[in-house]
Parts: sequence; structure tokens; C-alpha cells
Amino acid sequence: MRNERDSIDLIWNVAELASLFEKKSTLEGFLSDVVRLIAAHMQSDVCSIYLYDAFRDSLVLRASYGLQLPDDKQVELRVGEGITGHSFAELRPIREADAPSSPHFKTIPGLNEEEFRSFVAVPIRRGPNRIGIMVLQHRQPDHFTQTDTRAMQAIASQLATTLENAEMLMQLRRVAPLPQRQYETSTLSIVRGQSVSEGFAEGRSVLLEDRAVQIATGDDQGADEQEGLNKLSAALEATHKQLESLQREIEDDLSDVASMIFTAHLLMLKDQEFVASMEKLVRNGSGPQAAVRSVVHRYVELLAGSSNLRSQEKAQDLMDLEHRILRNLQGTVDEGGDYTGQVVLAADIYPSELVRIVAQNAEGLVIAEGGVTAHISILARSLGLPVVLCKEPRVFELRDNMPLILDAFQGNLYVDPDDEARRQLQAMRDSAQSEGESSRPVPEHGLTKDGTPVKVMANINLVFDVKLAGRNKAEGIGLYRSEFPFIVRNSFPTEEEQYHIYRKILSAMPNSETILRTLDIGGDKMITQPGPPERNPFLGFRGIRFSLANTDIFKEQLRAMVRAAADQHVNILLPMISSVDEFHRSRQILNDCLAELELEHIPHCENPSLGIMVELPSAVECIDELAARADFLSIGTNDLVMYMLAVDRTNERVGNMHKHHHPAVLRALARTAEAVSTAPEKLSICGEMAADIRMLPFLVGIGIRKLSVEPRLIGKMKLALADITLDYARRTALELLSLRDIAEVEKYLGIEPSQV
Ligand code: PEP
Ligand code: MG
Repeated sequence: MRNERDSIDLIWNVAELASLFEKKSTLEGFLSDVVRLIAAHMQSDVCSIYLYDAFRDSLVLRASYGLQLPDDKQVELRVGEGITGHSFAELRPIREADAPSSPHFKTIPGLNEEEFRSFVAVPIRRGPNRIGIMVLQHRQPDHFTQTDTRAMQAIASQLATTLENAEMLMQLRRVAPLPQRQYETSTLSIVRGQSVSEGFAEGRSVLLEDRAVQIATGDDQGADEQEGLNKLSAALEATHKQLESLQREIEDDLSDVASMIFTAHLLMLKDQEFVASMEKLVRNGSGPQAAVRSVVHRYVELLAGSSNLRSQEKAQDLMDLEHRILRNLQGTVDEGGDYTGQVVLAADIYPSELVRIVAQNAEGLVIAEGGVTAHISILARSLGLPVVLCKEPRVFELRDNMPLILDAFQGNLYVDPDDEARRQLQAMRDSAQSEGESSRPVPEHGLTKDGTPVKVMANINLVFDVKLAGRNKAEGIGLYRSEFPFIVRNSFPTEEEQYHIYRKILSAMPNSETILRTLDIGGDKMITQPGPPERNPFLGFRGIRFSLANTDIFKEQLRAMVRAAADQHVNILLPMISSVDEFHRSRQILNDCLAELELEHIPHCENPSLGIMVELPSAVECIDELAARADFLSIGTNDLVMYMLAVDRTNERVGNMHKHHHPAVLRALARTAEAVSTAPEKLSICGEMAADIRMLPFLVGIGIRKLSVEPRLIGKMKLALADITLDYARRTALELLSLRDIAEVEKYLGIEPSQV
């Protein structure tokens, strides 16, 4: 009898998988290592991997251990054909004790599959993307167990990212030119932009080249064939080394959002067809730079025509890679060098480059409008890089080495500032710093002046933020927004990948409360989704609605969360809950996950708490029923204010109407707190209002005892708490609740009145 532990051992973590990948110089080599290893662990005669080719709508056998593959033609199955095709079509695992007697059994000529009786097929997918299928076969009948199927599912989940990139490589076949741009030089003085990531930076300008790197024709032509091939191979090798070292550098801190970026690049470099096409062009007389460009553009064009949802992002990856190879060919990449003392100007920037320039000590970044995505600002904020978004095209025509000061609090760029401007900016910088660093020591625990505990916890977006939370003495994680690995990578991390991400977060503060929120995509947190764009995304397919409509994705996330908390407690928070019914359905799905994990003997947290975000007016109306059923509540004022006041927080024209001190909002908060007044530990507040010192007495006064704020604001909030008494807070709350309109509230709080 085989030892069941073998299967468990086989559930590698991503790092182990990556190391297996690093050892191999080709994609084919990697895949054949994988199938050999799985076959050995599962004690299976055969292990095969088929990848889905979306263009041909078929499954192509890419690697097999145990089957003799024909040299001359590829083995291909239609979707729905045979047990394998059937399992893929239905996206469910199929296990057969005696495959030849299955009505779906079909032999592929030359593979001699009849001799194998036991059969397991497990589809590989990432979120909505179908990637391929993994098949085990064994001579003895009834060889595989249910546990084997589960182990294969875990492995499929683990391999999905790498295989998805491999699948993309299979789809690439056509050609296209890209527009090119040129820069000139000019001078400016103050340029007003918009803050993307706060901070000050000072340094000399340096332009990050446009993605469409100019081909240096002088260097590229006239070289003989051998010289061209040598140059190409040296550039590819240099690119490979740089990417590997970048990947290693970010593995610890940013693996949740960034490491896969380089995996995709590395995979391209390992693809024999990609490299061979370039070499062939050089042999036919093309310069190496032109060869790189031609092959990459062929791939990019093909991606543009692909039906795969992630093609646009993949095209970006490719252009990023092209950029790096061309720069290496031109000898202009200096990975050892750094951007110390420099402010980078970039018409646009990829997440991978942002990570790189931060690793290379860039002081700040200015980007043009087209380049900003939520990804860039989130990464920049977490990495502490000041960034300004600037619509002035002349900024990107500045010559290198111009003295610059970036005030990314106000969103201003000062070009060649005179001494007076420098002095003023220095004063602003000092005052911003002293605001952040009070002379008073920050207490370990949040306490009012008269000793009432009010926990100050951290809102985090990336694993990287956990360190910041710890350094700032967070009393737990009050909100982990799990959507960022999905948004920044623009893909769906698998259950295994999510497990590793949540593990890092939970283990960072094992003795404090941690609240993991399930996916809240939609609204302003967009991810590529099938179907036409929504007319009102904030009122559309967002948060829990997406999860309840995609139970596979939801279950993967819930399983990953409770598995990551096998040795501790975890609080799972549901976003955008509008009714008790949605809560019930979610609870049921969580219970199903717990029952499945129990059956599979997979360690997990047995009693996770399930809570809801109070961020919709309907949730406030039903707060008594929700409070009675949910284990905890967290008020999300960013959305609550938006939905109560019908003010889109991203619309500049109505931005000044997004007021969390509106009497309607204050009353809704008081009502929510009242609903849990006998168990105040059940309630926290995590919207931006939680970090507004002017509102602190009100929040404490209505009974809130947990605040969750950005890590850098924790100290400020604890110190502010220490300045108020409970009695003062209660009086303030009562007075504010008695006011009739916005103007009265603003007068009471000393807020500049604004036009309504
Ligand atoms: C909120 O809505 O207040 C909240 C904390 O959630 P998010 O900002 O992620 O929508
Ligand atoms: Mg919200």
C-alpha cells in the first residue's frame, strides 16, 4: 500500500517549484522534470500534461512520463474527446478504476494507452482561465484514491501560473510594428500634477526610456552573422541573469504581487521557439536588435488577437522583456548602477520596472497620464516611492541631470528650483516629517486618557505592508484587502499561491487579531473580466456579488484562508454585503469548504469567524439581523459614505460632497454601534474616517473600540486617543448626533464650510 503522505509531500510551495524551473534551461525540460517527479511521487506509470490551445480549441500533449510520444507530430485532443477531453470540457476531475470500460474512453493511435487501466484527469485552471489538464495512468486497475485526486488538484493549482505562461507561448504566431517616440529637451519651472504616492524627493532628472526603444541602426547592421548571433546570445543571457536576480530580490517582500511578473519573462527566455525565431532572423541577415523586435512584435500582435482575457497584460510583459533585451544589446542596461540621487521621469512604467527602480534607489517618479493604473499607485505607496502624475508633455522632454524637487504631497514638480524655492520646500519637508514623528513616544496599546482600551490596527494591501504595520505597533491587522495580488498581477492567484500569501500575513502577528477580507474587485478595483464594461461599476458586479457568482474562485480563496490559519484563529470579512441572505450563502459556502478540508485531512482553522463589511445603506437598515448572525462587523466608511450620499468618490466634480461628517452618515454609524453595544469587541471601523482625528471623539463616543488605519497613521491615532477622555468622547458624540445639517456639523468640528 502506498503511503498517503507521499501525496501531501508533493504539494510543493511556489519557491520549490521556481527552483525546479531555474535548474532547467528550456520550458520543455522543465515540464518533463515536472511529470517525472509527479509520476514518481504518485507511484504512477504515466503522468502527462496537456495544455489548452485557445486558437485551435484543443488540448496539446506537451510532456509525458511513461508514454512514448511520436517525434513527427504533436498529440492533440479536441475538447470533450476521450476521458481527458471530457474532464477538461466539464472542468472537473475524473477518476476511473478501469478506464477502458468508461464510455468516454478513446485511444490515441501509437500511444498504447489500452494497457493502462487506472486513470485520473485533473483540469488546470486559474480563475476563469482554462490552462490545461494533468493525467495520471497506471497499469493496475483501481490504483488511485480520492486522496490522490485531491493531491493532484493541489499540484495543478500550484503549477497553474507557470503553465498558463507556457500556454500563452503556444499561442504566439504573427507580426506587427509598434509606433516609436522621440524626446527633445526643454525647460520648465513648476509643474502641477496629481499625487499618486505621497512623499518628497529631490534629485536629478533621468528619463526612463520609452518602451519602444529605438533600434540603434548603426550598431545593428553590417555585423556578420556569427557576431550577430554572439551578441544576441550574450544579451539574452544578461537579460536572464538580471531577471533572476530581480526575482530573488523581491521574493521575500513582494512575492504576492510582483514575483510572477519575472516568472513570465523568464519563461519566454526559456522558450526554444522564441529564441530560435530570433536566431533564424539573424542567420537570414537581420541585425540582432531588429530580430528581437520582429519576433516580439509578432508575439504581441498575436496576443492582441487572442481571446484570452489576460492577453493585454501578457503583451505588456513581452514589451517589457523586449525593452530589456534591446537595452542589453545596446549595452545600455546597467543593473549594477542605481538611481540614487535621481528622480525618474517615465511616460509610462510597468510594475516590474517600478519594483526595479525602487530596488535601485530611485528617489521619486513622475509619470504621464497614460501610465497610471491602480497597480502602480498601490505598489509605489507600499514601497514608499513618491510619485506624481503629470499631464505636461514637456516634462518628459527634459534633458537628463536637471535638478528636480518632487512634492508628491501636493503633486508638484519643481524644475531647477532656485535657493528660495529650495528653502521653502525644505521647511515643508521638515514639517511633514515632524507631523509623522511626534516627540511623544507611541504607546503599545491604544488607550483613552482615562484608560479605555481602543485598539489601533492596520489596514494592509500587500504582504510588504505587514512589516510596516509591525514597526508602527499595530495591534493586529484590521483589514487585509486580498484583491491586490489579483489586481496587480491581473490574474487569479491559485489556492496554493493564496495560501502562501495569507500564511505570511497571519504568521507576521500570530498573537494578534487578523482580519482577511475576501475579494472586493469591481468598482474602482478593476480586473479584466469577461463581458462588456459595466456602465455603473460601483453599482455592479462587485465584492461579494462576484464571489457568490464564482463559487469556485470564492471557495479557493476561503480554503486558502482557513488553511493558512491551521495553527491560529482567522477572521474572514465579506465585502459589500447588502442582505442577511448574502451572508447566509457565504456562511454555507465556508462551511462546505471546512467539511471538504476535514474530509481531505488538510490542516485548517476549524472555527474561523465570519464577518461583514458595513458599507451599504441596506446593511445599516438590516444591522440588527446582520449583527445577530455575523461574528463581527467592520464599517467601511469609504463606501458607506459613497453609497449613502450617492457620491462617486473617484469623480472629481463631486469629490467635495464625499463627507463622512454628513449627519446621515453619523446617524448610520451610531445605529451600527448601537446594534453591538453589548459586545463592542465585535465592531471595528476601517474606512479613511477611522484616521480622521477630528472624528475620533465621535467614534469612541458612539462605542467603537477598534480602529483600523494605514500603518503610518497608527502612532498618530494612538497619541490622539491618549488626549481624550471617554466622557468627552460621549458628550461630543451626543452633541454631533443632535445637529441637523452639514453646516452645523462643520461649525461644531471647526471644518472649513464648503459650498453644497
Ligand atoms: C471602505 O469602503 O471603507 C473600505 C475600507 O474598503 P475599500 O476602501 O477597500 O473599498
Ligand atoms: Mg469598501
